[in-house]
Amino acid sequence: MARDLSTELIHHAYKPPAGFAAPQEPVHKASTVVFPNVAALRARDWRNKNGYTYGLHGTPTTFTLEERIATLEGGTECVLAPSGLAAVALVGQALLSAGDEVLLPDNVYGPSLQLARGEFARWRITHRLYDPMDAAGFAALLGPNTKLVWLEAPGSVTMEFPDLAALAAAAKARGVATALDNTWGAGIALRGFEHGIDIAMQALTKFPSGGGDVLMGSVVTRDAALHERIKLTHMRLGLGVAGNDAELVLRSLATMPLRYAAQDAAGRALATWLGQRPEVAQVLHPALPGSPGHEHWQRHCTAAAGLFSVMLHERYSTQQVEAFVDALQLFRIGYSWAGPVSLVVPYELTAMRSASAAHQPHLHGHLVRFSIGLESVADLQADLAQALERALR
Ligand SMILES: *Cc1c(COP(=O)(O)O)cnc(C)c1O
Repeated sequence: MARDLSTELIHHAYKPPAGFAAPQEPVHKASTVVFPNVAALRARDWRNKNGYTYGLHGTPTTFTLEERIATLEGGTECVLAPSGLAAVALVGQALLSAGDEVLLPDNVYGPSLQLARGEFARWRITHRLYDPMDAAGFAALLGPNTKLVWLEAPGSVTMEFPDLAALAAAAKARGVATALDNTWGAGIALRGFEHGIDIAMQALTKFPSGGGDVLMGSVVTRDAALHERIKLTHMRLGLGVAGNDAELVLRSLATMPLRYAAQDAAGRALATWLGQRPEVAQVLHPALPGSPGHEHWQRHCTAAAGLFSVMLHERYSTQQVEAFVDALQLFRIGYSWAGPVSLVVPYELTAMRSASAAHQPHLHGHLVRFSIGLESVADLQADLAQALERALR
């Protein structure tokens, strides 16, 4: 039977080139996965990674990325979400029900707090903020309804490094699950499972992508039952990721340890240099002595991300600080980090922290956060010097 061109173009007898074997992963893209017959359709279970059922539940490309991210974090199972924030939300939605409480560190990533104040509150999931630097007083905060402890190391923007192992142990002693936002440690500087946490979440948007051009998140576990719970919620919420995006992250993973090390070295060099400048009251970089929680960083980490903040002296006005940021030429003004381009953001701390933490002595002055990219350290230092001279003299 002669078939129409429209049919021929779809049912073309394409075969991949014989003998083509390359180590690079092909990009598999699918909504529909077809089955050879009804028996095969009935036999396949979306939870079984040996079989594919529907694009949303995974393709060879996303399964490969999940396996590599699980390896990166030192866990066994991984699910991918369309952004880091979607991964944060997924953990909460999988583990929390109406009447439950989640404890968040006072220096939690801002959008994670907005999620708790918005959707979680609407779903009658309550939250309380804890002081991440008070590990001794932490156990007393765990209440009968506390079902999840959120951890972040170091804290967002202000960079305090908590005693992660002590916080995780206190939660474990009460049977409360712990989830670590490991975007900073990325599985390279910090491997959360070795310090007793149950769930490692990461914004793959940052170091694993490394390009500043893709959004993705991951949730890694070591416990099959916990993974099953997260995976079911993930499926019911429809949180799939696109094949092209997964391929971008897979391609970048190979260079991630090198990029991480280069940005670590550059970040420490620039943070140390800034610490010696008269305009700077305090450097907030967990790998540098004198930063809050430096001793905890030493016990938990083998490296540091190229991300740090400085407190410019209180004597400057907000306008002067903004003029300094505007005078920078290589550092671009923007959120996110771990891409090739160095970034800078000034923060208003009083609007971000509960009163007790905002009055901590290391937070006096004007906070400016730097993400170090892959440019020459000498050029970045010259850029900082010219902007300091121009705006703060
Ligand atoms: C960027 C980031 C997220 C969210 O990742 P997105 O992909 O931008 O949604 C979560 N936590 C931390 C610590 C981050 O830096």
